[in-house]
Amino acid sequence: MSETVGPQDFSATALRTADPRIADLIGRETTRRRTTLQLVASESIASPAVRAALGSDLGDKYAEGYPGARYHGGCDVVDEVEELAVERARDLFGADYANVQPISGSVAGHAVYAAFAQPGDPVLALRLMHGGHQTHGSRANISGRWFSPIAYGLRRDDERIDYDHLRETALVHRPGIIVAGSSSYSRHIDWAALRSIADDVEAVLWCDAANLAGLVAGGAAPSPVPYADVVTVSTQKVFWGPRGGAILARAEHAAVLQKAVYPFLQGGPAMNSIAAKAITFAEASTPEFAGYAQDAVDNAQDLSVALAERGFRTVSGGTDTHLALIDVTSSGLTGRAAAAALAEAGIVVDKAVLPFDTASVADGSAIRVGLAVLTAQGFGTEDMTQIGDWIATALHDASARAEVREQIGQRCGS
Ligand SMILES: *Cc1c(COP(=O)(O)O)cnc(C)c1O
Repeated sequence: MSETVGPQDFSATALRTADPRIADLIGRETTRRRTTLQLVASESIASPAVRAALGSDLGDKYAEGYPGARYHGGCDVVDEVEELAVERARDLFGADYANVQPISGSVAGHAVYAAFAQPGDPVLALRLMHGGHQTHGSRANISGRWFSPIAYGLRRDDERIDYDHLRETALVHRPGIIVAGSSSYSRHIDWAALRSIADDVEAVLWCDAANLAGLVAGGAAPSPVPYADVVTVSTQKVFWGPRGGAILARAEHAAVLQKAVYPFLQGGPAMNSIAAKAITFAEASTPEFAGYAQDAVDNAQDLSVALAERGFRTVSGGTDTHLALIDVTSSGLTGRAAAAALAEAGIVVDKAVLPFDTASVADGSAIRVGLAVLTAQGFGTEDMTQIGDWIATALHDASARAEVREQIGQRCGS
């Protein structure tokens, strides 16, 4: 995938003539991405084929409805595109049903609420502070405003999901939906345990696999598909895909999910993005992708070890995925200050909170790192010690950050 890191040649296209300011900004972003280390856990790199599809004529086509049942003329070609994307999604994940129209992972999640819950219904999800997502019942999101969130959490001692507490909470509140899947929980999830809890309370089990789906596709994480009623996916995280969402589900849920996406939540689907998703699913079924998915996990584990050796523990003592939550307390910096310090040194991460953080949510005591981008760029085991060094140096020594940035620029070939 390293060849995909090359700059997109926007300068030579109509864009530079039509809108030099935007062309310049895109050029600056390309330079920023090429000269600094991208460790934002939700990012990856779209493949050249995906980028070509995104810029194609398909983006101009209106196709409200579904293949064979559209509200617009001229849909024969895009019908085939969507059928192919659906078929590839089903094959890749071994799912009965797939919907490739959701504009993003969040919208795919909203479709789950639309299909399986009524306003006010209890929904059981991982506490936001413990790695849950806004779309799992935050008051700032429609999910927390229109439904009644109930939270499960992590155990204090090992910082892993407390399945016993989850079961007890489910039995008390009888949620209509149980959600699992996280933006920062880096451990494998026990899908069989969740299935049994969901069965006991007759809840729909929803796996929000926004972060996880690429690893599952590549065989680097256990699949929730055999256990969950419904699985939602983001195609831009870990995958080499476009910004977009998809839904996988058991056959019995197909009809309600179709209606939930269109017309309940969306209008015309982005057909260029659907073509790009079809490409993404095909690319994700290759041995090359499987190797990358495993490498991303290996790199995250190696970086976690390198950082532990330098005094920065990983939450739960390690990771099973491409991401890790790193406690930066030993640097004397908050998570927010640590992320800013690393940015100065050319290392781009997100600030984060620890599961039982005593700092404010705005500051936090952690950073979250993800290894999808670096892995796609060809960084490997031997680089993780170096990156661990750079991170530790930048966090401990403000005067060394410029030098670290210089070294990173050289390593990135600038
Ligand atoms: C990123 C993420 C989402 C949202 O995905 P988008 O594609 O950005 O809308 C939903 N749930 C989880 C757990 C995520 O990490």
